[in-house]
Amino acid sequence: MIVAIDGPAGAGKSTVARLLAARLGLGYMDTGAMYRAVTWLVLDRGVDPSAATAVADLAEQYPVTLTPGADGNRVGIDGRDVTQAIRTSAVSAAVSLVAANPRVRAAGVAAQRALLADGGWVCDGRDIGTVVWPEAEVKVFLVASADERARRRHAEMVARGEPQPLEDVRDDMLRRDHLDSTRADSPLRAAGDAVTVDTTGAAIDDVVDTIARIAHARVEAAR
Ligand code: C5P
Repeated sequence: MIVAIDGPAGAGKSTVARLLAARLGLGYMDTGAMYRAVTWLVLDRGVDPSAATAVADLAEQYPVTLTPGADGNRVGIDGRDVTQAIRTSAVSAAVSLVAANPRVRAAGVAAQRALLADGGWVCDGRDIGTVVWPEAEVKVFLVASADERARRRHAEMVARGEPQPLEDVRDDMLRRDHLDSTRADSPLRAAGDAVTVDTTGAAIDDVVDTIARIAHARVEAAR
């Protein structure tokens, strides 16, 4: 089974996907981490994120590795473990520009499809149900109010010791959502057959329960 979870920043995708994967005995794949790892390498090499050819060359040359871990995926690129480094505000600020690059997307989608072909994944991102794996048995589009999404991102950054004013976190998040939704290549949008789940004010466990029920219903229906 493939469970595709898409949605904007801060809607709870990675937390929900990780818990759901553990609940259902599936692997968890964080595709945002792949685009973040490429962005980290771009910044580390001093390449301008808007230099499309140089950025795409790096993405094609350096595959991203995702290794399952207790708290999510360990992320590697160019022999380095970048699991923590990809969460900085510098990477967040540049990632949507890098991820809009068609050659970067082609490399990411090919790597994701190769992994998903084994089956047995909960995969979160922006284009999983629409482009990466349109045949996913379960497709969920997670949403939440902008205020709540900004508060969650802000709390994560405080917990990581990188506090930013809440307003800045909100502005960056909305700018990223705008870029992700308006790019020409595989924009952020709900698949026509996705179930939209609003996590505003919802307990994480209840959201996981809801999606697990959808997954079980699909399994039963397929028998
Ligand atoms: O999920 P996360 O917020 O870490 O994703 C970071 C960025 O990576 C997104 O804002 C988006 O630009 C890009 N992304 C994407 N397609 C995906 C997953 C993430 O374009 N499937």
